[in-house]
Amino acid sequence: MTDAAELRRRTEELLAAHPPAATERLDFLRARFDAGLAWVHFPEGLGGLGLPRSLQAVVDAELEAAGAPDNDPRRIGIGLGMAAPTILQYGTEEQKRRFLRPLWTGEEVWCQLFSEPGAGSDLAALGTRAVREGEDWVVNGQKVWTSSAHLARWAILIARTDPDVPKHRGITYFVCDMTDPGVEVRPLRQITGEAEFNEVFLTDVRIPDAHRLGEVGDGWRVAQTTLNNERVAIGGMRLPREGGMIGPVSKTWRDRPELRTHDLHQRLLKLWVDAEVARLTGERLRQQLVAGQPGPEGAGMKLAFARLNQEISGLEVELRGEEGLLYDDWTMRRPELVDFTGRDAGYRYLRSKGNSIEGGTSEVLLNIVAERVLGLPAEPRTDKDVAWKDLAR
Ligand SMILES: Cc1cc2nc3c(=O)[nH]c(=O)nc-3n(C[C@H](O)[C@H](O)[C@H](O)COP(=O)(O)OP(=O)(O)OC[C@H]3O[C@@H](n4cnc5c(N)ncnc54)[C@H](O)[C@@H]3O)c2cc1C
Repeated sequence: MTDAAELRRRTEELLAAHPPAATERLDFLRARFDAGLAWVHFPEGLGGLGLPRSLQAVVDAELEAAGAPDNDPRRIGIGLGMAAPTILQYGTEEQKRRFLRPLWTGEEVWCQLFSEPGAGSDLAALGTRAVREGEDWVVNGQKVWTSSAHLARWAILIARTDPDVPKHRGITYFVCDMTDPGVEVRPLRQITGEAEFNEVFLTDVRIPDAHRLGEVGDGWRVAQTTLNNERVAIGGMRLPREGGMIGPVSKTWRDRPELRTHDLHQRLLKLWVDAEVARLTGERLRQQLVAGQPGPEGAGMKLAFARLNQEISGLEVELRGEEGLLYDDWTMRRPELVDFTGRDAGYRYLRSKGNSIEGGTSEVLLNIVAERVLGLPAEPRTDKDVAWKDLAR
């Protein structure tokens, strides 16, 4: 039997044992994980079957046709797209067994404690300190722009464990319990008026050494797995044709002939083609991923995603004229997910401004593409061999 046929058989078995109409959502998701049908490329016992990632589509199609619930992937994007691949690559067996199942089912939401007030693009300059005390690490510092921190049970955290070595070498990667009494989460309002993200203050937070991911001092390397996956997660989502921002503007164009002008038509056509090329490039990137972890190529996808979202939402506002500028809902909401398509044009225009900042700014991604994809000369780095504690801050 081929892998695809075997997957279909297993999916039918799951559906027969847990008919979606008669099964609680969470029970179904747990059973799906235990059957190895959550992410088929993960190992057996951890929600997968060790099969090529491309075969996931076989399972997803069968389950969708049967009306089975999904794990609401956009709500738990940081866990699925960033924490999970990092835990899989660097976690101990115990960590994988503890964290991956509730992460995938969405029972436990994850956030990312990386950026700091003084360390964003230059993330390796971070100053949050983790000091070893017996079996624990004691963490003090401040993180910022932490999406979903107010919903999260766990965080992936990078902190400085050795200030005496150059900045990239003295960092260690941890899993932080967001319910620790030393974790304080405060909302930060964005240009849309909403507060998807937060500043997070860490005061004497205790993290058991058993929650360290990777070796002490090797956190920068571990973080590369997270960051490369983040860019693919942000820029490389699987979309149907007109599934992204180009969908609503194309619909307005079709529905509202009175708004059309020749100039806007030319721009819309160009952006439609660009959006379709980006979508198909995303498909190719996902096929490359079948062969392993993403490399710096994800940076190019994320760059295109940010540019397109900003240009398309700008065109939409122009197309709608004054009506496009009508965004006046300044209620400070704490949204569980960022929903571009279900909102009005003004929201899309404002929210897409953050796309060229989150997950690495476009300028920094251009540097990554230049150096690591195209092989161009690297930017001068004068702080490479200087101990972190001696750097100007
Ligand atoms: C919506 C949103 C959600 C976010 N969620 C999270 C999250 O969940 N967790 C988290 O840890 N972080 C998160 N971030 C933070 C994000 O990763 C940082 O904002 C980003 O890395 C930039 O860092 P910075 O804000 O400190 O800007 P800076 O690094 O100070 O950059 C300022 C400007 O300088 C430019 N610049 C800096 N260095 C260079 C260079 N070498 N070459 C050329 N130009 C350069 C930048 O492009 C930018 O224009 C989020 C940000 C946004 C907008």
